[in-house]
Amino acid sequence: MRQSKLFTKTRREAPADEVSKNAELLIRGGFIHKEMAGVYSYLPLGFRVLQKIENIIREEMNKVGGQEVLLSSFQPKENWEKTGRWDSMDDLYKVSDASGREVALGPTHEEIIVPILKNYISSYKDFLLDSLDSPLAIYQIQNKFRMELRAKSGMLRGREFMMKDMYSFHTSEEDFEKFYDKMKNVYKTIFARVGIGHLTYLTFASGGTFSKYSHEFQTLSGTGEDTIYVDEASSVAVNKEVFNDAVLKSLELEKEKLVERKSIEVGNIFDLKTKYSKPFDLSFTDEKEQKHNVLMGCYGIGLGRLLGTVVEVLSDDKGIIWPESVAPFSVHLLALGEDETVKAEAEKIYARLQKNNIEVLFDDRLGMSAGEKFADADLLGMPYRVVVSERSIKEGGVEIKKRNEKKGKILSLEELLNLLKS
Ligand code: ATP
Ligand code: MG
Repeated sequence: MRQSKLFTKTRREAPADEVSKNAELLIRGGFIHKEMAGVYSYLPLGFRVLQKIENIIREEMNKVGGQEVLLSSFQPKENWEKTGRWDSMDDLYKVSDASGREVALGPTHEEIIVPILKNYISSYKDFLLDSLDSPLAIYQIQNKFRMELRAKSGMLRGREFMMKDMYSFHTSEEDFEKFYDKMKNVYKTIFARVGIGHLTYLTFASGGTFSKYSHEFQTLSGTGEDTIYVDEASSVAVNKEVFNDAVLKSLELEKEKLVERKSIEVGNIFDLKTKYSKPFDLSFTDEKEQKHNVLMGCYGIGLGRLLGTVVEVLSDDKGIIWPESVAPFSVHLLALGEDETVKAEAEKIYARLQKNNIEVLFDDRLGMSAGEKFADADLLGMPYRVVVSERSIKEGGVEIKKRNEKKGKILSLEELLNLLKS
């Protein structure tokens, strides 16, 4: 894409009302636009990152047999009354229409998915899918609405935000446990692919009323709202909220070896048992015609929060440093100066990169100094910066530099293509 055609522009100044680093950098780079506290629109560059994160998550959900759906955001009040959450959930948006009818604006989707499944499940036979390794698991990637009180962390805590939520359904504890364990690894894979695996810990958190633990995936960051105790040796952590001697003992962790850190919860997985199947009477009859409530698990990841976390933990004082897997473009091609030979050479390289399916943002803008173009490249944070200038041509080609490296090197066009394709 040509930067001269991109309708967004970078900004030097941080927005006055934004205190979080992630939103500041994303707004200055033109990735997102702030509508109000906790509500952001995605602009072309930000949307490209979001779609890449989305595709990674979708691929991993499909691999474990997840079936993708898109559930409604308007949710019947009756469903929420059935689970008791119409009154108990503080952050629920309640919307009413002209006739006075009230609906909930979906903060999560147990109240929708469980009644849907009631139409399709009544016997253990309904769970015998193709392979026993992929039980019934349904997911979506969609906007959620929550009346968050503190929406000061940019993309980390939205009032409208994108979430992947998966719900799994089981006839036995063993079946549930097997899938739940598998999901722990799936989540590790997702965070590694997004580029923050080295900073993200499987974290034991309190399980609420029904189970002993839930598991969170916490990414180390000084700006995180959570406090966790990390055991480096086993790569697990415990959330401060559940931290006590009995918990440590049951997890076989030694207090002296744990390090206290601030972190961001990028995802979590829960054992729901029959919490939602009971109120809706989602049940099945077994081989002996005995009726049981279906067992459930749920698995969430906030996509906007994940995007914001990548920015928080992978940036420097000049801007963002995108991992290749989620960068809007892998290459930022800069044409420096107005020299005709430079322009022609840059056009040629742009065409060759595109022909080789390398995603490239081409800074073909006229009337900009080299300093301005470099500053934009650092702010926008593509993994590779490729510069075409009179000097680079004289030295035999282009200058390539990784965003996280200080010094670049000169390569011929063929060498450049080989490097980027490998
Ligand atoms: P938190 O404790 O941070 O409020 P939560 O326990 O309410 O999170 P869940 O309801 O389990 O979170 O949602 C699943 C995932 O959705 C979270 O792990 C997080 O990644 C994301 N998420 C939750 N709330 C928000 C929000 N307000 N903005 C962006 N992402 C969110
Ligand atoms: Mg919450």
